[in-house]
Amino acid sequence: MGWHEKATGFVPTMGALHEGHASLIRLAKSQSELVVASILVNPTQFNDTRDFETYPRTLEGDVAKAQAAGADAVFAPSADALYGGKPEAAPVHWGPLTHAYEGARRPGHFDGVVAVVELLFRAVKPSFAVFGEKDLQQVGVIEKLATERHPGLRIVVAPLVREPSGLAMSSRNARLSAQGTNSALALHQALWAVQHAAKDGEVSKAVQAQREALTTNLAVTLEYLDVLDARTFTPWNGGQEARPYVVVAAEVEGVRLIDNMPLMA
Ligand code: AMP
Repeated sequence: MGWHEKATGFVPTMGALHEGHASLIRLAKSQSELVVASILVNPTQFNDTRDFETYPRTLEGDVAKAQAAGADAVFAPSADALYGGKPEAAPVHWGPLTHAYEGARRPGHFDGVVAVVELLFRAVKPSFAVFGEKDLQQVGVIEKLATERHPGLRIVVAPLVREPSGLAMSSRNARLSAQGTNSALALHQALWAVQHAAKDGEVSKAVQAQREALTTNLAVTLEYLDVLDARTFTPWNGGQEARPYVVVAAEVEGVRLIDNMPLMA
């Protein structure tokens, strides 16, 4: 087989790599000879300038971590170089998938995600690409993107990686104080409580109770806590073929955090 025929696995990231990213790279490496990881803090997917400006940037350490996890190459273009000029994103309308939940809270976010992933796919030409379930709605958007515009490109979904405390790993966690990190535990605890209640068929009662707990928690500003069908990002109606997940988004110390769990563990 010539070098150009080797299967290439691709792991797009925004850097500040942690164990969650490393697990994606290891998964890619287990399925292909070549693994490319990309690092770019993509301006078009940020609806909040402060979030973009304070996003951690640690390229040197990231390259070492990517390599240690099994990446053969790191692609870290500047935004201007990748976009071929001023970074811009065309609007994408895929119903609730792009416009509910994260799409509603972060207008234009998925336009930017689709724009950058399109450009990265064109540059890297991977055989498959790995995305983490931490960004559950993004997985749905990317699967739709692949089906519509990149048939033949396989999307591999990797499980969410947590800290031993239960906190979902995120590059943004680096911006939390020790106290904030502790406060953020309330998020996965709320998800866990809903998941637990599902075993007794008490989902809506648990959702109400956990919404109230997070709303009255002074360290947390709740955006949403809901049970939805991960295929469509519409509220779960109990249907048999649905993929019910409990999802949460909230701010702690001004840092926006998201987390999710399958309703049936
Ligand atoms: P990001 O750098 O945050 O854009 O994330 C790059 C990729 O890593 C995305 O596919 C994320 O879903 C994935 N990822 C981020 N955090 C985690 C985590 N805690 N567990 C699994 N995958 C993750």
